[in-house]
Amino acid sequence: MDFEYTPKVKDMQARLLAFMDEHIYPNEQRFFDEIAENRAKGNAWLPTKIVEELKPLARKAGLWNLFLPKSKRAPEGLTNLEYAPLCEIMGRVPFAAEIFNCSAPDTGNMETLERYASEEIKDRWMEPLLKGEIRSAFLMTEPAVASSDATNIECEIRREGDEYVLNGRKWWSSGAGDPRCAVYIVMGKTNPDAPRHSQQSMIVVPANTPGIKVLRALSVFGYDDAPHGHMEVLLENVRVPVGNMLLGEGRGFEIAQGRLGPGRIHHCMRSIGAAERALELMCKRLNSRVAFGREVARQSVWQERVAEARCMIEQARLLTLKAAYMMDTVGNKVAKAEIAMIKIVAPNMACQIIDWAIQAHGGGGVSQDFPLAYAYAHQRTLRLADGPDEVHRNSLAKLEYARHMTLPGEVDMPITRGS
Ligand SMILES: Cc1cc2nc3c(=O)[nH]c(=O)nc-3n(C[C@H](O)[C@H](O)[C@H](O)COP(=O)(O)OP(=O)(O)OC[C@H]3O[C@@H](n4cnc5c(N)ncnc54)[C@H](O)[C@@H]3O)c2cc1C
Repeated sequence: MDFEYTPKVKDMQARLLAFMDEHIYPNEQRFFDEIAENRAKGNAWLPTKIVEELKPLARKAGLWNLFLPKSKRAPEGLTNLEYAPLCEIMGRVPFAAEIFNCSAPDTGNMETLERYASEEIKDRWMEPLLKGEIRSAFLMTEPAVASSDATNIECEIRREGDEYVLNGRKWWSSGAGDPRCAVYIVMGKTNPDAPRHSQQSMIVVPANTPGIKVLRALSVFGYDDAPHGHMEVLLENVRVPVGNMLLGEGRGFEIAQGRLGPGRIHHCMRSIGAAERALELMCKRLNSRVAFGREVARQSVWQERVAEARCMIEQARLLTLKAAYMMDTVGNKVAKAEIAMIKIVAPNMACQIIDWAIQAHGGGGVSQDFPLAYAYAHQRTLRLADGPDEVHRNSLAKLEYARHMTLPGEVDMPITRGS
């Protein structure tokens, strides 16, 4: 493995960093102020002007749709390994990824459509998503069941003639609060009698289909994440044409596995960026304050934490790059252990470092004057979203046990490293 970034990636990194300096950091406060103004006027659920103004600039700068490898519809897409250091930079500011059309859940949804949708569905929904004209949501999780186990998903998808009829209740549908959100990918059950992993399917549902009600926004530690939002959505007799089914009835579990690989690694890349920024703010703050007669930075406990944070970030980055490299070279299925590892490591690492950075800022750290409290809230959710830590640990443990099992007839020999 060679982790030296290619000249192409180094050039893009430099251009992305310049874009962040020129357009994003100076407008960070404006983004939150705009939402606060909209909220004060009675509606926070409006796209921000700042994001819409910056999108054409990002596109013109060639920093657009970088996430999608091997798609003829998005030739600008990079490999996972090329994208990793760029996605990391976007992760330093919560709304930055959208400006480059690289934000969740649209990226995962576009990847799903690219792999599993008909050309007709791609023309209808993927094209406007790739242009950043609309947004999308992924409706899998349900309030009534433990949704970390996708085989529990209950939303009914019943075939009637040339249509499917959907009935169910979803929650944590991220992005469904945005008025630009025009399409959902919904997971539901087509056949309760099929084998456990063949009961669910995924289907494309236009957000304005009669029978859909967006009921409320859920808050994350008090943040509602407007205008994006994490919504509770009711589906009552929602009818869509049979051609909207992805891949085929009973293939939903399979799609979920395929979809979540790239989505997970993107979150991890951004977590590394968020941790880098927290460490930077922590160091600056510690060096700028004096307590009990000397700079706080010179207290050994802070030296210990700063050093530990640097080690943790470097470890997580290398593991993420390894996972990205494997996804590019041997595919998401073979890379499943590495994908599980980074999904466990990166958000936990980021939570710990942001927590230290909050501590270093004293009371200011939990306030709106620094980006830390919001960053912590977001990173903490990543220990749940796209599968809780425990589920990934279980999968990893199963793979590890399998490596050390003695099959009938085999001699129980010590297994050497790397075997
Ligand atoms: C901010 C945010 C955004 C989200 N966005 C989306 C979205 O866009 N679309 C969507 O469909 N969902 C989304 N989710 C939902 C998320 O994917 C689920 O919350 C997650 O999969 C867990 O499912 P659950 O909430 O039903 O928890 P449950 O499945 O009920 O699990 C609860 C807890 O049980 C424990 N547990 C579960 N299984 C095991 C196990 N095998 N071993 C040990 N312990 C276990 C874990 O501690 C887990 O946290 C989002 C969630 C959040 C917080």
